[in-house]
Amino acid sequence: MFPLTQRTVPLYQKEGQLCRHTSQITSIHPLSCLPEDARALFKPPPDSTSYVLTTPSTIFHAQGGGQPSDTGIIKSKDATFHVHQVRKNEPALLHMGVFDGGNARFQDGEEVEQSINVEKRRLHSRIHTAGHVIGLAINVLVREARLPSNIVDGKASHYPGSAFVEFLGLIPGTAKADIQAKVDELVSQDLDVKIHFWTEAKARTDCTGVLESFKSDEDGVRVVEIGDVGSYPCGGTHVLNLSECGKVVVRGVKRQKGVSKVSYEVQDT
Ligand SMILES: [Zn+2]
Repeated sequence: MFPLTQRTVPLYQKEGQLCRHTSQITSIHPLSCLPEDARALFKPPPDSTSYVLTTPSTIFHAQGGGQPSDTGIIKSKDATFHVHQVRKNEPALLHMGVFDGGNARFQDGEEVEQSINVEKRRLHSRIHTAGHVIGLAINVLVREARLPSNIVDGKASHYPGSAFVEFLGLIPGTAKADIQAKVDELVSQDLDVKIHFWTEAKARTDCTGVLESFKSDEDGVRVVEIGDVGSYPCGGTHVLNLSECGKVVVRGVKRQKGVSKVSYEVQDT
């Protein structure tokens, strides 16, 4: 009934700096009319007039991989739609939001212009990239035998105000200063942040941290590589150079049930 199974091309995966993009409306429905499983993807919407729309391609980052979704605007000549949440309903990406007052709406097939909230995207990209820097710093300290050899990258969350990276294995709280110093060293090198598409075999062999859950599609595995220090399979958005992160501050190191959690934030310099 609902064309929510048509693939949306996630343009941010290959053109991460794109802030505006013209596309057509593939489908648009009131959120309340969606099947229960699709409706459940969204947090309680701001009001009952929320709509969900799809386009063949999008620059809006969908929530996932520990990174929040983009927000922004989708505009036709007659109507303006404010995108509040973007969710994956594989292979489609769903944009949920509300129209500006009045009765203006989009029609199926209508041409619209997408524009993301650039400030928010930039902050998300800085925090996300900083999470990789924390991971690499800890991997370097392991290689230098300054941290236990059994430490392995775990899950991460890059939300403003509550960002953290987890590791299997115990990182002592006393290592915080060493981690901060290594992070500062990496950031001060102004390393480039590059995106590659590797075969699954290469990603498994060459990436610094490989989670079991990583995904491969027809392009291969999307990998982010920082200088020549290391790389991670990743679907998120990043800055182009570590100098854009600002100051990356290690907030704390906590251990629970064999997992170490390193919390951090980025600060303007
Ligand atoms: Zn990433």
